[in-house]
Amino acid sequence: MSKEYEMVIGLEVHVELATKTKIFCGCSTAFGGAPNTHTCPVCTGMPGSLPVLNKQVVEYATAVGLATNCTINQNCKFDRKNYFYPDNPQNYQISQLYYPICVNGGVEIETADGGKKTIGIHEIHMEEDAGKLVHDEWGDSSLVDFNRSGVPLIEIVSEPDMRSADEVIAYLEKLRQTIQYLGASDCKLNEGSMRADVNLSIREKGQTEFGTRTETKNLNSFKAIQRAIENEKNRQIDLIEAGEKVVQETRRWDDNKEYSYPMRSKEDAQDYRYFPEPDLVPILISDEWIEDIKSRQPEFREEKMVRYAEEFDLPEYDIDIITANKKLADIFEATVAICGNPKKVSNWLMVETMFLIKDRGMDVEDISFSPENLAKLIELTQSKAINGKVAKEVFARIFDEDIDPEAYVKENGLMAVNDEGELKAVIEKVIAANPKSVEDINAGKLKAMGFLVGQTMKEMKGKADPGSVNAILKELLGLE
Ligand code: ADP
Ligand code: ZN
Ligand code: MG
Repeated sequence: MSKEYEMVIGLEVHVELATKTKIFCGCSTAFGGAPNTHTCPVCTGMPGSLPVLNKQVVEYATAVGLATNCTINQNCKFDRKNYFYPDNPQNYQISQLYYPICVNGGVEIETADGGKKTIGIHEIHMEEDAGKLVHDEWGDSSLVDFNRSGVPLIEIVSEPDMRSADEVIAYLEKLRQTIQYLGASDCKLNEGSMRADVNLSIREKGQTEFGTRTETKNLNSFKAIQRAIENEKNRQIDLIEAGEKVVQETRRWDDNKEYSYPMRSKEDAQDYRYFPEPDLVPILISDEWIEDIKSRQPEFREEKMVRYAEEFDLPEYDIDIITANKKLADIFEATVAICGNPKKVSNWLMVETMFLIKDRGMDVEDISFSPENLAKLIELTQSKAINGKVAKEVFARIFDEDIDPEAYVKENGLMAVNDEGELKAVIEKVIAANPKSVEDINAGKLKAMGFLVGQTMKEMKGKADPGSVNAILKELLGLE
């Protein structure tokens, strides 16, 4: 019988903080931009330049620490991590080793069987990001862009508490939600504002000691993380089954080829010669400052879920989707504040908005329509001024261009025709023109009703209310 194995996984997650300027200088942190335009002597490591700490970085790091149940190190400081690499202009990175800002935290995740589990957080520390190397595919040169150099990061180091890819994804989702709710980062894996390195080892089920771990890097989507975990699990099990040893090393995942290859082993691990950063003073985080940051924490997802159930009487399914993303929750609340009708608002967000996001290849974060216009649209449908089909068309315009639906409906003559006299005249015409269908209906083939409704809608250029059309048709055909 083959042995049963278990994975042990711990994550190191880097998150770029949403400050406007870099951690130690006033340069912009905006993503993209022409190479080396968001730079200055500090973030390009010029001799003689000195760092000045951005206060907002400490606030965000503290806020994330509080939200993940960490203890805040009220006396913390920076350390210098020395290494040479062309994307690192100072030849060292300013980071935290001895006194990281947050320690001993944890977040609760839901496991596949519906249970709850806490994933421990060993520490969160602040550090600066490096530049980016751009490799010239045709020539034999590499270029460097320092726009990212000095962008503030927090690194969240978990305990080795995860046992499956599902738990890893649940943990990352939880971190992402919490950080997005705080507004501390947009956490986009594809743009690198959230990056996860996976430490993974295998052991026989029941064994208490950990096996030798590897660290896998270069994972830029949840799908890639899932695939890399399955792949690394199988690779390690195969080694163990073959009587070989797992080597402690860092591996790089290639998501196109779906395999990983070794980057460096423990033997050639660098000695970073850490020492306290001499150019920055220690940071003192007072009780008052912590209290102030605490008082500004938003309502988090769990609390929102409870409130939505009570206040809006929404089904659990809706609440789950709407609160999964702060942006969606904000739009929901702002729209309901204008037009009421929480269930209607929720439907527009869950169904049509999600459909258009997918169709346009966007992120929820990129939604740009205003709650005012969605509220106006809902009011137009409630008063039956437009029918459902027209409403969908108008919503697509709101979604793309945030048009004013009232003005748009008027300008394009999309008001529903609810005038009974006018409708009746059209339906009489349709009945007269389709004797075969009338015959079918009289013979009990009620499917033909749909055809007549369709013909009427066509005559009315889609602007009739289908309910009224149905009622009048039945009346005229004597089906009531
Ligand atoms: P290092 O200092 O070498 O980077 P750490 O102790 O800081 O190592 O651990 C780095 C990450 O690896 C943490 O997230 C931790 O949970 C995880 N980790 C440590 N040991 C193991 C193991 N045997 N299997 C899986 N993950 C591990
Ligand atoms: Zn700069
Ligand atoms: Mg480490």
